[in-house]
Amino acid sequence: MNMLGKIVLVTGATRGIGEAIAMRLKAEGAELIVTGRDQERLSAWKSQGVLGIAADVTDVSEVEELFTEIMTRFGRIDVVVNNAGINKDSLLMRMGDDDWQKVIDTNLTGVFNVCRAAIRPMLKQKQGKIVNISSVIGVIGNAGQTNYAASKAGVIGFSKALAKEVASRNILVNVVAPGYIETDMTQALTEEQKAAILRLIPLGRTGERDDVASLVHFLVSEENKYITGQTIHCDGGLVI
Ligand code: NDP
Repeated sequence: MNMLGKIVLVTGATRGIGEAIAMRLKAEGAELIVTGRDQERLSAWKSQGVLGIAADVTDVSEVEELFTEIMTRFGRIDVVVNNAGINKDSLLMRMGDDDWQKVIDTNLTGVFNVCRAAIRPMLKQKQGKIVNISSVIGVIGNAGQTNYAASKAGVIGFSKALAKEVASRNILVNVVAPGYIETDMTQALTEEQKAAILRLIPLGRTGERDDVASLVHFLVSEENKYITGQTIHCDGGLVI
């Protein structure tokens, strides 16, 4: 499953799950490009010889510039992992327009922006792999997360349609839907909320960033030649 020589972009790699995915793929030999908005964290990546480019996935022109830079430097893009995401939770009756729009813009339109830019060179190359990070919440829903659930369910539908659209050019598009993974995003939950979620996880533990990185690694490696359009839960059995 080595990634030697593969040109790989991971969005939202300045911390959390994206950082773990990027670290794994780099360790396997990938030529890595990471994005996010946190300049300090991007500098830390640069000091490891990684191309860290500040890009907000909601901004079409920044995404276009990102791909211009990638194509100028490397001439191709083999793998894209759309991981950047946010949550802004509240009950629907209290949800502001801004909390709805920001979550949809980042989690769904961000995936659209990056996939649209990536798909042009991938179509020319007649090969490529895309993994979009959704969430089990996009499948089973969760009170207080209508915006997040809608965005993540949207990513699943989007990815199925794209998988069909580009399959004839040997481009594989899959979704990874994590359950509860220990990161900054889940730190905001109370101990009571965490205990309630834990009771729903058959494997009896919360997920680690590396659990997700392992799955993404397989899906984007040469070992995956025949899986496309799928949503794979990485959740310790939470959804069953
Ligand atoms: P974190 O909050 O730890 O990290 C989010 C990452 O996304 C950061 O690197 C952040 O970078 C980046 N990001 C956010 N907004 C933007 C933007 N507009 N443009 C570019 N980058 C952006 O989250 P996690 O690591 O926990 O989550 C990663 C993904 O996994 C998300 O899509 C999330 O929805 C999903 N997920 C997480 C679960 C969990 O339990 N943690 C469960 C299910 C799904 P910066 O601040 O530098 O812009």
